[in-house]
Amino acid sequence: MSFTLNDLPLRDDLRGRSPYGAPQLDVPVVLNTNENPHPPSPRLAKALADAVADTALGLNRYPDRDAVRLREGLAAYLGHGLTTDQVWAANGSNEVLQQILQAFGGPGRVAMGFEPSYSMHPILSRGTGTAWVPVPRDADFRVDVEAALTAIAEHRPSVVFLTSPNNPTGTVLEPADIERLVRAAPGVVVVDEAYAEFRREGRPSALSLLPDHPTLIVSRTMSKAFALAGARVGYLAAHPAVVDALQLVRLPYHLSAVTQTVALVALDHADELLAAVAELRAERDSLVAWLRGRGFSVADSDANFVMFGEFEDRTRVWRDMLGQQVLIRETGPPGWLRVTVGTSAEMDAFRRALLHATGR
Ligand code: PMP
Repeated sequence: MSFTLNDLPLRDDLRGRSPYGAPQLDVPVVLNTNENPHPPSPRLAKALADAVADTALGLNRYPDRDAVRLREGLAAYLGHGLTTDQVWAANGSNEVLQQILQAFGGPGRVAMGFEPSYSMHPILSRGTGTAWVPVPRDADFRVDVEAALTAIAEHRPSVVFLTSPNNPTGTVLEPADIERLVRAAPGVVVVDEAYAEFRREGRPSALSLLPDHPTLIVSRTMSKAFALAGARVGYLAAHPAVVDALQLVRLPYHLSAVTQTVALVALDHADELLAAVAELRAERDSLVAWLRGRGFSVADSDANFVMFGEFEDRTRVWRDMLGQQVLIRETGPPGWLRVTVGTSAEMDAFRRALLHATGR
């Protein structure tokens, strides 16, 4: 008997939907999910293992439900005078964003984003029963602030997602524009800063706007700059009242004792982990220059990835490169592809494969 999910009493609004699906393929050069290419050093791996061994002796007990020490450490890392009660942490920023939607979205409510942007924002919105309203970006992949203000006035979203630097385009928002949108939005505004540490000089974080805007939320992650995607640690900074709201929806003990320990050790080694950020930013800038020099169109990038094009048949280019053992991402507007910035050896492989795939 063939039985599929269509035969289940699935929610009507989930029928026909696709799950998040970046391919996880076993190839030598993996440049498709914006990971940091540098694994922890053996010294850090040992420090992590020792700390986890210590934590293991107490695993019969539930973890600190409020992850206070971790939030203290994250507040200190973020600076900007932030205090522990303004910071919240969860299993990746995906869970942080989901908790925001559980608290502020839901049936009868609207979430809005400016596309192309991070594909999980609509997926998490729909998963929490929140209607999703996409607003297109302008030709340079920037948020068209006037169009955004019109859309906010029309749809009255409970949650607005601004992604800066934006995935997949790499483009940033000016703080003055964020402020205009926060003032206009009737609900909360989330600035998803997953790639904040990769910004070029002179591009401020939305963290500096928090003191004046209690409905502004800035989300961050340890997955990218901290090279800790496997540990699943994301966090946010906001008014303490926002943190109170999230505690109404979070699962008790959502962040395991092992995760909290790993994140604390990583924070203790922040200098070592973040050392590669400067190298990746330089690698990114030289990749952008190289692509432009070869006649490709390239979106300005303040992230650890670059979106480039334009291809009549991007699927063919993507597949040709995969055939050469280089995995990039088929995402963004039609005709564009996205590549994560890896080590210089990986970028050499990328450049070779791209030239081969495009005959340039
Ligand atoms: N926000 C953006 C813009 C992202 O690109 C990603 C990861 N690709 C995330 C959030 C989620 O990252 P994580 O759950 O690993 O923190």
